[in-house]
Amino acid sequence: MTYSYRTAVELLDLVEKTGLSLAEIAVRGETEIGNQTREELLARMTDYYGRMKSSVAKGLAITQRSQSGLSGGDARRVLEHSEKSQVSALGTTFERSLAYGLAVLETNAAFGQIVATPTAGSAGIAPACLLAWQETRGASDEDTAMGLWTAAAVGKIIGYGACFSGAQGGCQAEVGSACSMAAAALCELDGGTPKQVIQAAAMALKNTLGLICDPIGGYVEAPCSKRNALYTLHAFGASTLALSGVESVIPFDEVVGALREVGRTMPRVYKETAEGGLAITPTGLKFRPDQIVVPLEARKKG
Ligand code: SF4
Repeated sequence: MTYSYRTAVELLDLVEKTGLSLAEIAVRGETEIGNQTREELLARMTDYYGRMKSSVAKGLAITQRSQSGLSGGDARRVLEHSEKSQVSALGTTFERSLAYGLAVLETNAAFGQIVATPTAGSAGIAPACLLAWQETRGASDEDTAMGLWTAAAVGKIIGYGACFSGAQGGCQAEVGSACSMAAAALCELDGGTPKQVIQAAAMALKNTLGLICDPIGGYVEAPCSKRNALYTLHAFGASTLALSGVESVIPFDEVVGALREVGRTMPRVYKETAEGGLAITPTGLKFRPDQIVVPLEARKKG
């Protein structure tokens, strides 16, 4: 029996044959390609989750702006607001996930350790969702880290079918993938069926299609940090839709195909070049180290 797959259809077929969860299939697949035992792999993922939590804690302690001046102190601001606020439209879980998503990117901007999930620029979404989920449910680190295996199971399909790189596919490939992986994790942790987990991944991913990569000044800080915060809500939402029985009209594998297609045809200026979108707004340009305004003709060639 092999646990390899490249598409959601193949993954769900494996689930059907084995009766295993997506997370468990990801674990077993990893034992096939490496030399680590199941126990070693589980311990390693729990360790990664611990590092993620540390990156959240470090970010929440930051009070200064980063060297670029683009981020810093916002995670703490949101958490303090959440703790003091008498009235909350979102609820504590979502407010904390916003703060945690910001925190990881602020840690990254301060040259602290983060766990790329799947990239540095999108490293806040999965930790923020899982930590907010864990605090609400009172789950152990080991149980919560199983969500990372679910995220990995879905991420593998995106990696095979499209890409994770903002330079290759725009922010939809980074933040969109992270959001999709986090939605799947939340859905499986909350008892969703394998089909619902894939639905959550599909709904999260398809609603990020077209998201461009336009880092202000070329720094992975803005709009990155706010996207990491706000797309945690998106992940929770997609999981809730799937758990409610709502289905994506477009199957996950086809959404991944659309991600690849949109990324392929997206102009170069929206692929981490800082030559389009928010990066070339009048305010965005002030953060550009060289202050170069890209000529319109050059942008049209992108
Ligand atoms: S805007 Fe670009 S650098 Fe920032 S998170 Fe998105 S893909 Fe990454």
